[in-house]
Amino acid sequence: MSLASESARGKRQIVERSAQAERELREAWRHTLARINPDIARFLTKMASAPGINLTYLLDRGRLAKLQATVGQGMQGFAAHAAVIVGQSQRDAANLGDAITQIQLAATVPDNVAWNFLPARHAALSQIEHALTSDSRVARLLQSLDPQAQARLRRLLTQAILDGQGPRQTAAAIQQALDMSLSRALTIARTETLVAYRGAQLANFRANSDVVSGWIWMATAGACPDCADEDGTEHALGDDMETHPNCRCTCVPQTRSWSDILGAAGIGGDDM
Ligand SMILES: [Zn+2]
Repeated sequence: MSLASESARGKRQIVERSAQAERELREAWRHTLARINPDIARFLTKMASAPGINLTYLLDRGRLAKLQATVGQGMQGFAAHAAVIVGQSQRDAANLGDAITQIQLAATVPDNVAWNFLPARHAALSQIEHALTSDSRVARLLQSLDPQAQARLRRLLTQAILDGQGPRQTAAAIQQALDMSLSRALTIARTETLVAYRGAQLANFRANSDVVSGWIWMATAGACPDCADEDGTEHALGDDMETHPNCRCTCVPQTRSWSDILGAAGIGGDDM
């Protein structure tokens, strides 16, 4: 198997793993909405039947506060579930990156040469574990969905009343505002899954610096213009892959010339 085909296979697998996390998130989101929506529907029906709807009505008897609390509870449940989904996806991605990178590296070795590459499992996984601890970026991002969703809800309902919008219009706007939370969660899952994969790739490359001199950026068809420009560019082994949210780019190892590597290891060209 060639390096190019192994790299492409790894990319297909990691994109599929990331898509699986997205499917799980959508399913969790469906459950969350099913719990929140009846309360919102009831609220809007009441609002429609009450004459002279105004902000006072919205704030009276804790109506808005109750609705916000319902949304808040739903979002907290979603965030907790999402953290589990994203965490599992990250762990799988790190393992996949580990396994695929060993195969990528093996694919660079000339025929008739036996060469063992050092694993980087520990380094890669501890990096991923760190990303999963409670004060991690991922956890913080997911927890922030709740206050943001509550703030959007408040803004929307207030604006809907000021604008004199009907319940149906308001309901659609609320739905849209909440869906922003799903789309953020999807972005987090996609981004962090690929970050874990690349982390495992680079950790493996660096564990084998006697052979690997750097890495080459591998973009996907349909990548953003910045990433398309980076496609095929060479980077030093110590460089991290600086990408953007939702990026699906991965990297390919760049090895020193195998005659140099074998010469340095005391193996003559004749032995090849
Ligand atoms: Zn990219």
